Amino acid sequence: MTTAQKLSFDVQLTDHARTVAEREQVLANPGFGQHFTDHMISVDYTEGVGWHDARLLPYGPLTLDPATSVFHYAQELFEGLKAYRQANGSIATFRPFANAARFNASALRMAMPELPEETFVESLELLVQTDREWVPTTEGHSLYLRPFMIATQAALGVNYPSRAYKYMVIASPAASYFSGGVKPVSVWLSTEYTRAAPGGTGFAKCGGNYAAAFVAQRQAVENGCDQVVWLDAVEHRYVEEMGGMNLFFVFGNKLLTPALTGTLLPGITRDSIITMAGDLGLEVAEGRLSIEEWQAGCESGELTEAFACGTAAVITPVGTVKGADRGWTIGDGTPGPVTLKLRDELVGVQYGARPDTHDWVHKI
Ligand code: PMP
Repeated sequence: MTTAQKLSFDVQLTDHARTVAEREQVLANPGFGQHFTDHMISVDYTEGVGWHDARLLPYGPLTLDPATSVFHYAQELFEGLKAYRQANGSIATFRPFANAARFNASALRMAMPELPEETFVESLELLVQTDREWVPTTEGHSLYLRPFMIATQAALGVNYPSRAYKYMVIASPAASYFSGGVKPVSVWLSTEYTRAAPGGTGFAKCGGNYAAAFVAQRQAVENGCDQVVWLDAVEHRYVEEMGGMNLFFVFGNKLLTPALTGTLLPGITRDSIITMAGDLGLEVAEGRLSIEEWQAGCESGELTEAFACGTAAVITPVGTVKGADRGWTIGDGTPGPVTLKLRDELVGVQYGARPDTHDWVHKI
């Protein structure tokens, strides 16, 4: 079978699904990324053959040879998006073809095979349809979907990329990413570590980027902050993004977000906010901001708000900034009106409470 051929999924339903009571207990307090639904998707790839063995399977562990390539060389990538319970009880995902396109952009950078976008979206639809009772009905909750791909050739050696891969999707009911809800987060400026350099993998959603980031995230927590802010690799001055979110700065009715230089992840939430802000009559620029400009803007009152955005975090205000030799508060440290307005608009579209004027909502 070649990549151009349409795959059809073999469906193997579990005979040990959680009971209604067990599921309700999880959904009452899902947390984030702690619990998984009853099924998963698995599709295999073999060089010279293409994608094959597309299956929906009972959720469960994998058995892999210890020599499997991903364990040694981290040839891995992933995506993250959510299924939302709509106001009318139906279920929808948000811009899944944008995730499919980013998945394939990451795949090209990681020398991994692209997956047809239709197969990517179909795999999400099949998993969500099968496990639809796991899509929370509680306001603000959702079913987080985690597509990923690993290199599965069981051989050591770095002369050539793996010749075999596995694509999978798992799903996890999610409450709010930050346990505090829409409470401003505090951020730590990482001047000691670098996330991504020009020519590297910053724009790809590969596990290695996150592996290299944990030490800085731990430093942020040790310094009393919620999240790390990454700076450019050369001067350690220009703001790039956060650990799992992009950043926006608000100057009255103008927005500024770091440009996509190749060293930061092109967030789908970021892209949606640029469009939505335009709809609301706000001016949006993609450019760069140094930490000195960030601090001076807050001190002069010109920079009125800052917020982080991403699938998991939605839109989360940034309240305070801290670094090794500096620290300041944004505005009065409470969520600003532009942040709250954009959040309200975005959440409204995602949950079907506002018109979907850009055709972003994908019904399941
Ligand atoms: N930056 C990083 C490093 C991320 O991991 C994420 C989450 N995928 C984002 C930004 C936001 O991307 P999105 O809006 O597509 O979730």
